[in-house]
Amino acid sequence: MYISTRDNFQAVTATEAIKLGMVPTGGLFVPQNMSTFAEEELKSLIGKTYQDVAAKVLAFYLDDYSAAEIVTCLKKAYQDNFTHQEIAPLYRLADSTYILELWHGPTAAFKDMALQLMPHLLSLALQKLEVREEMVILVATSGDTGKAALEGFKDVSGLKIVCFYPYQGVSAIQERQMITTEGENTYVVGVRGNFDDCQNTVKTLFGDQAFRSFLAEKGFVLSSANSINWGRLLPQIVYYVYAYLNLVHKGRIKYGEKINFVVPTGNFGNILAAWYAYRMGLPLHKLICASNENKVLTDFFRTGIYEKNRPFKQTNSPSMDILISSNLERFLYEMTGREGTAIATWMSELQEKGRFVVDKTVQKAMSEILWAGFATEKETLATIKETYLKSSYLLDTHTAVGMKVYQQYVVETGDKTVTVLDSTASPFKFVASVLQAFDGSDASIEGDEFALLQELSQKSGWSVHPTLQGLEKKPILHQRICAKERIRNELENILGLR
Ligand SMILES: *Cc1c(COP(=O)(O)O)cnc(C)c1O
Repeated sequence: MYISTRDNFQAVTATEAIKLGMVPTGGLFVPQNMSTFAEEELKSLIGKTYQDVAAKVLAFYLDDYSAAEIVTCLKKAYQDNFTHQEIAPLYRLADSTYILELWHGPTAAFKDMALQLMPHLLSLALQKLEVREEMVILVATSGDTGKAALEGFKDVSGLKIVCFYPYQGVSAIQERQMITTEGENTYVVGVRGNFDDCQNTVKTLFGDQAFRSFLAEKGFVLSSANSINWGRLLPQIVYYVYAYLNLVHKGRIKYGEKINFVVPTGNFGNILAAWYAYRMGLPLHKLICASNENKVLTDFFRTGIYEKNRPFKQTNSPSMDILISSNLERFLYEMTGREGTAIATWMSELQEKGRFVVDKTVQKAMSEILWAGFATEKETLATIKETYLKSSYLLDTHTAVGMKVYQQYVVETGDKTVTVLDSTASPFKFVASVLQAFDGSDASIEGDEFALLQELSQKSGWSVHPTLQGLEKKPILHQRICAKERIRNELENILGLR
C-alpha cells in the first residue's frame, strides 16, 4: 500500500497511487512497507538482463500487478526502442570511475528509462480500476521530461497528454523534439515563464478540488507524468540495482562491496530512486547530489535551510534549473522517521514563505548517506573539455556538472570508493553548449543548432544520437504559446471546455 508524506490521506494500492499521480489533498505517495532484498535474492540477479532485474525490483512495489503483467509491460518498454542491448550500459572512464549511460532511449535523455514503462503501468491501472473517464496527463517540463512523456504516451488509448514547457527556456533541439511529436492525443504548450511557473500551476490544478470535480463532470480525470508520480520513480530504481550487479558481473567489484553514485540533480527524482535502492539493501557508500548554479539543494544539505527566495538562473544545464525540488519531500519524510505533520508544516512554509528549516537530527541523517555540491556554468564547460581531452569521452552539460562535483568530493574527502556517475543526456542533445566547451564561443548565437550536430560529430568522432538525426526536417505540429497566468485557460481550450 501507499501512504501520503503528509499523513493526510488513506493508504491506497499501487494502481491507485499510479492513477492519482499525487495525493489529492497534497503530499506524495510513498510505499508503506519498505522491504529489502534477501541476500541470495540480490546475488541471484548477477548476470541477468535489465528486464529480469526490473521484473524483480518492480515486484517489490506492485502488489496488485501479477508477475505476468509486469513482464508484459517490461517487454513493451525496453526493447529495440533503446539503441543499446544492455539498456543502461556502463562505460569505464578510469580505474574506479564509471559512467552509467541512461540516454540510449528514444529521446536521448534519461527520462526515457521511466517514461517508456510508466504509460504501460498506468494503462493497466486504469483497466484494473475500471476508470471510465478520459485521463488527461499534465506534464510540466524543463525540457527533457516533456518529449520523453510525449513519446511514452502518444497514441495510448483512453488518454490525452498535455505538456507545458518554459517558452525560450529550453534548447532549440528540445523544443523541436516536442513540437514535432506525432499522435492524435498529444498537446504541447510553450508558457511565457520559467519551469517553476509551469510546475507550480500544474500542482495547483491538481490540488484544486473544484476544478477536478468540474473536469470529472465533463468526463476527464487528471494525472501526472512528473517524477512526483510513483510510477515514474519506480522504474528508476532498477538501473541502480542493474549497474551494481553489472560491476560485480564484470569483476570490477566484489559482491557486497559498497559503491558511490553521483547524480546530476534537479527535481530530486533520480537521486531519490538511488536512495530507494539503498534502502532495499543495495551496498552503497555515498550518494553525491550535484547541482548547477541553482544550488538550492547544495545549500540545504549544508545548512539545513531550504531557501527558495533567490534569483532563478537559466544555465547551460537547463534540465536542472529548478528551485523547488518536489521529490525532496519523500526523502525528508524518511529522514524524519516518517513525521508527516513536520513535512506538511515545512511544505506549507515553502509554499507561503519560500523557505523552511530542518533540525540538526534530520541534517545528520541526511549527511550520513548524501554529499552535495554544485558546479558553475564555466566549470561545467571546462569539465567537458578536460574529460574529452583526457579520455575521448563526451559528456553532456548535466553529466559534466556531476563530474565536476564528483571531483570536488574526491578532493574534499579523499574517498577512493568505486563510483558510478549517472549520464543523464546524450551530449548531442545539448550540442551548442558542448561545442562551446571546445570553441569558447557560444555556438547557439549563430542560430542553426542542427548544423551543430554534424560539427560536434566531426570534431569528436562520435556519431549523432539516432533520434536527433533529421529532426530539423520533421514538420512542426504544435504551435500553442500562452502566458503563465493562462495555463488553466489553455488546458480548458484543449479539452474543448471553453
Ligand atoms: C531531468 C533531468 C535531470 C534532473 O533529474 P531529476 O530527477 O529531476 O533530479 C538531470 N539531467 C537531465 C538531462 C535531465 O533531463
